[in-house]
Amino acid sequence: MSENKSVIEQSLTALLKDDGFLPDLQAQTREQAFKSLVAILSTPNHIHKSFLRIVLENGTIERIPSFRVQHNDTLGPYKGGIRFHQTVNEEEVSNFARLMTLKNSLHELPFGGGKGGVIINPREYSEKELNLICKKYVQYFNDILGPDKDIPAPDAGTGEREMDWMMAEYKNTHPGEPYRGSFTGKSIINGGSLGRKHATGKGVYFTFRYMMNDFLENEKKWLEAQSNRFAKTLLNKSDSKLRVAVQGFGNLGAVAAMEAFQCNYLQNQVVAVSDHNVMLYNSDGLDIPALVKYADENNGDLPVDEGTLSSQGIKATIEERDDLLELDVDVMIMAALENQIHEDNMKKIKASIIVEGANAPITDDADKYLSDQGVLIIPDILANAGGVIVSYLEWIQGRETQFYKEEEIYDLLFEKMQKTMDTILPQFFGDPFPLRQNCYIHSVMKLSTVLFRQGKLY
Ligand code: GLU
Repeated sequence: MSENKSVIEQSLTALLKDDGFLPDLQAQTREQAFKSLVAILSTPNHIHKSFLRIVLENGTIERIPSFRVQHNDTLGPYKGGIRFHQTVNEEEVSNFARLMTLKNSLHELPFGGGKGGVIINPREYSEKELNLICKKYVQYFNDILGPDKDIPAPDAGTGEREMDWMMAEYKNTHPGEPYRGSFTGKSIINGGSLGRKHATGKGVYFTFRYMMNDFLENEKKWLEAQSNRFAKTLLNKSDSKLRVAVQGFGNLGAVAAMEAFQCNYLQNQVVAVSDHNVMLYNSDGLDIPALVKYADENNGDLPVDEGTLSSQGIKATIEERDDLLELDVDVMIMAALENQIHEDNMKKIKASIIVEGANAPITDDADKYLSDQGVLIIPDILANAGGVIVSYLEWIQGRETQFYKEEEIYDLLFEKMQKTMDTILPQFFGDPFPLRQNCYIHSVMKLSTVLFRQGKLY
């Protein structure tokens, strides 16, 4: 993940050359302001760490390392998910916190960036133990959390159940204070928002579809913008379907796969999906609704053997999980974890369009290599912001104690994502950078203008 820094640094350097960066300043002041900006972005405001002391059901005592990183709060309270995963570490949480700062700025949300992490494999703990871990997390980070301070949400390994538990603990420890906006991604009955659960997956597919639509309408501009494997793919596809593979079948991957399956507008077909156990493949397209139903009833897992597939009437072959990345497909939706495409496998990638549903699924080296090959990478901070956008709507609804209808939520979500893309795309056509850098530049430009107005860029 640290490699990611250099893409940000490159974008910053490009930004300095750009007339849009604080244009009214004298060159010298501008250089100085730029140095302050780099320092602000490369260092989180706070790194909070704790060991959560838990007594397991068998009586063992565990001390579980956990973090909350508050990267930057220039645009509003810190905001970002809490991840439960065995590979969590401080550097990773810090990098994700910075991505949240950039994501929130890019989509003009009134939030800064933060991220939490707990080093556990949640599958190894009972429900009771997980509940205890959630309560302890809130107790240990009690002082720094709150609806106007720092608002966590779900991330990999957490969901509405965990947010419900955490909000309940926050309410206990802050009697008489507003609490509904302290956590987002809660269950609907507990003050969550309609549509929040599906928001990230729907947003990811919407972003992809919107881009493809724009491509069809403005083909020439796109061809000029990138020299171009993906454009060729699309142009050759007028009479056949785009083949889509989805890595990850959790809340994000399953929803994105379902959106692709149901999309009548774009001719596409989901030929492969994978989870932590297997990959399922069918060159004629998978029965996604049947797989979603199966996963819902089986702890989120895909079927792992032929017998189960045939008893469910699902036609697919069972393949090695990681082979999905090297499939001969047109589009790959990354919906699992970070660093999935890296130096060792980047040359084997055949997809022409990669959509980053997960945060940072491509390392910096691989990002550069694939962009140079003309692969269109739709970056995380653009594509996967559906979750935090609906979190924002949940936060507002919690304050107003008045709730929107599901269609209203989706309208607001797509409107926001579309607005960002309508700002980004014309710039993308006008400059020589890949889309990720373009998004960074736009996001940092907004942040630096606010920082400057607040007198913090000297
Ligand atoms: N964890 C999600 C993300 O990385 C959602 C964050 C939120 O809703 O605050 O964007």
